Amino acid sequence: MSDLLAPFPSSCDVVVLGGGASGTSIAYQLAKRGVDVLLLEAGDIAQGASGRNGGLLDTAVDPGSPLVDYYYRSAELWPRLAEELLDTAGIDVEYFRSGTLQVVLEGDTDKDEIDAEFRGHLEQGYDVRWLDREQTLALSPLFPEDTLGGWLRPMDGQVNPIMLCYALALGTARHGGRVRQGTPATALLVQTPGGLVAAEPRHYPGITGARSAGGAPGSAAAPTGGHAAPGGDAAPEGRSPAPTGRIVGVRTPEGDVLCDQIVVALEPWTRPFLAPLGLDVPVRPQRGQIFVTEPLPPLMEVACLYGVDPYIYWRQTRHGGLTIGGARPQDTHGDFLLESVSAATTLDIQRIVLGMAARVHPALSDTAIIRWWGGVMGFTEDLLPVLGRLEEHPNVVTACGFCPNGILCAPLTGRVIADVVVGEEPEVPLEAYARRRFAAD
Ligand SMILES: Cc1cc2nc3c(=O)[nH]c(=O)nc-3n(C[C@H](O)[C@H](O)[C@H](O)COP(=O)(O)OP(=O)(O)OC[C@H]3O[C@@H](n4cnc5c(N)ncnc54)[C@H](O)[C@@H]3O)c2cc1C
Repeated sequence: MSDLLAPFPSSCDVVVLGGGASGTSIAYQLAKRGVDVLLLEAGDIAQGASGRNGGLLDTAVDPGSPLVDYYYRSAELWPRLAEELLDTAGIDVEYFRSGTLQVVLEGDTDKDEIDAEFRGHLEQGYDVRWLDREQTLALSPLFPEDTLGGWLRPMDGQVNPIMLCYALALGTARHGGRVRQGTPATALLVQTPGGLVAAEPRHYPGITGARSAGGAPGSAAAPTGGHAAPGGDAAPEGRSPAPTGRIVGVRTPEGDVLCDQIVVALEPWTRPFLAPLGLDVPVRPQRGQIFVTEPLPPLMEVACLYGVDPYIYWRQTRHGGLTIGGARPQDTHGDFLLESVSAATTLDIQRIVLGMAARVHPALSDTAIIRWWGGVMGFTEDLLPVLGRLEEHPNVVTACGFCPNGILCAPLTGRVIADVVVGEEPEVPLEAYARRRFAAD
């Protein structure tokens, strides 16, 4: 019961910031390797996007992207991780390899685009299949008569993302790591020639509508008197010069923790958190919206996608409800500034998602929706994450910018970032994900 209430240390080897799927997975892998790790989460475990997503583990991506390899390798790790977490933490994360089907109906104008992406994956030797009408209809009684077929990605799976984060957090504790919820890092501690300086974000917004009232990260971490600079959370902060020196720890409301290395897994909060160092890690907030239906009898095992732009995705959870989300590129509210992106849902997105769901599953027209919610992801311009050591501060490692697929990536992210931290060659090359790619622009 007290696994997540570890005594607060004054020092440790590595502090991991952020109790989402990325941070908990990294902390878990470090603890497994015997590293003295402390995981800090400002609110509750899985309070951010990790507790608000669809739970699909979908490997679809532009075949030219380096993420193709990252996604498939992570997909391969899921079955073993799920078993391991059941053994270590006693938590069933509800993982199963269901495959994802990208459905095509008669008259769809994006069929060629889907077909080209399918061929791109096929040519690289990945296990993907094109299903004809009969094969597709056999997967669910919900598909309409004018179904043409679809692209099946058999490696893909589904998971309960909240259970995943708690299992990883508990697993971290069971392997000897420490996990603290309700404990935001409020500043980085920099050892300057003049003494210890706290590099504290002046402006650190929370996300409206966060899961636990009063626990939004910004509410605890925002410095008193902080205010938005023009451009909101755009970094670097321009007013006071960034302190120079080695980063030696983090400040929290419970006290300072000195450490050798820090992993920043804060998704859209990464940018304002690191801005006081004079560094820009351009991960912007992007909302996603999703809803769940009343529990239904078993109707499908496969997870599904429909459409390209806009698109929707859905799956039937173990509890019977269909979780349906989408229209993310259409969700442009809030100018992508952290302070103005709310996790609330909006009517325009609801209309798009519902309209597409009615097209692909007309039989659901009378099904009750029991809950809508939103969440905020971290997006980069090139849709690649930012992984690895910061050149300017090599003992600070970032793991952010997972765009819409951070849950799929979590098993591999935990392992490669642990590799970086302990000084081993990461099991996948990380050059494409270095922060320096933005500086070259
Ligand atoms: C509606 C929706 C649907 C999605 N569907 C899918 C899907 O089906 N499959 C998939 O793979 N991905 C999906 N995603 C994306 C996925 O949820 C994210 O990519 C993933 O959760 C990112 O995890 P993370 O740990 O990197 O970040 P987060 O989960 O955002 O975690 C960051 C954490 O940092 C904490 N924090 C902030 N500041 C501080 C601080 N100063 N100190 C300590 N802690 C702090 C926050 O409270 C938060 O818990 C979806 C996202 C949304 C919103």
